[in-house]
Amino acid sequence: IAKGEGRRIYRFYTPVLNRRLLEQFHLEQALRIGLERGELVLKYQPRVDITTGRILSLEALARWHHPELGLVSPSRFIPIAESTGLILDLGPLVLREACQQIQRWQSAGVPIVPIAVNLSANELYQEDLTHRIQDIMSAAHVEPEQLEFEITESSAMRSIDQAISILNQLRSRGFALSIDDFGTGYASLSYLNRLPMQAIKIDRSFLAEIDGKLNGHSQGAAIVKAIIGLGSNLGIHIIAEGVETQAQRNFLIDHGCNVAQGYLFAWPLTADEIEPLLRAGRVEIPDH
Ligand code: C2E
Ligand code: MG
Ligand code: MG
Ligand code: MG
Repeated sequence: IAKGEGRRIYRFYTPVLNRRLLEQFHLEQALRIGLERGELVLKYQPRVDITTGRILSLEALARWHHPELGLVSPSRFIPIAESTGLILDLGPLVLREACQQIQRWQSAGVPIVPIAVNLSANELYQEDLTHRIQDIMSAAHVEPEQLEFEITESSAMRSIDQAISILNQLRSRGFALSIDDFGTGYASLSYLNRLPMQAIKIDRSFLAEIDGKLNGHSQGAAIVKAIIGLGSNLGIHIIAEGVETQAQRNFLIDHGCNVAQGYLFAWPLTADEIEPLLRAGRVEIPDH
């Protein structure tokens, strides 16, 4: 069906419908079908104590296996899902899969850690979010302590008072919450105190600046230090995203941030690949 429709659309091509829009449209149709066919899969990336390699939690990251396009990255399909409303189907699929995975590991005797799931703004402000989440969880016999939600700074700022009340509801049910991509949005520091967050994730663009010629004297380095300081003053955990090198790891340890996610420690991995790491409780950290 998708192919037939695609050909028909090409015949209606006008300069107004530029290539990019057309591509978006095709992807949207394909994603709609893909969600129904179960083409969405999850990878899991550990968050580790970077001094020991101990795995503290996992982040669930969606992947789309399209039969012809191959593996489509979330940076392409999440924005489409968000702008078309498909995220309201995708989000629950991700949460359900993560909950079922927790259940599978639990019954197989695999030592589990909490799994963090990303929530888009559309989902955050959707009516009855807490009940929707609880229905999915209880179907899989998962407890709130086994889950965490990541909300980007810009999602929270879209409607800050509403966000505070929703997040307080989630928090009061026992879910851990973290603020994702911190530093890239416009959160005023005074709001940070009012958001019931347990963790702040430093956006990886700042970490990327640490490894260059400037040797820890870049603007990114200054921002990372400031966020670490903020976290310790507010009593909020700090997680660094996108750690790829020893230099970045050392910088974080030197400045008092011991938790990170990044290719240096582990890539996002399939459930099967992550299982032995969970059994070991830790990842190997290369020493140079
Ligand atoms: P995010 O939530 O900030 O996730 C972290 C991203 O950084 C992931 O990209 C991860 O693969 C990548 N990453 C981890 N370590 C490193 C590293 O050392 N270096 C570099 N360069 N990148 C690293 P990914 O999986 O492509 O996901 C991109 C974004 O798509 C996510 O950013 C998140 O905003 C969104 N996303 C992914 N899955 C979901 C989902 O299930 N629901 C929603 N709403 N959004 C999702
Ligand atoms: Mg995230
Ligand atoms: Mg992030
Ligand atoms: Mg991101």
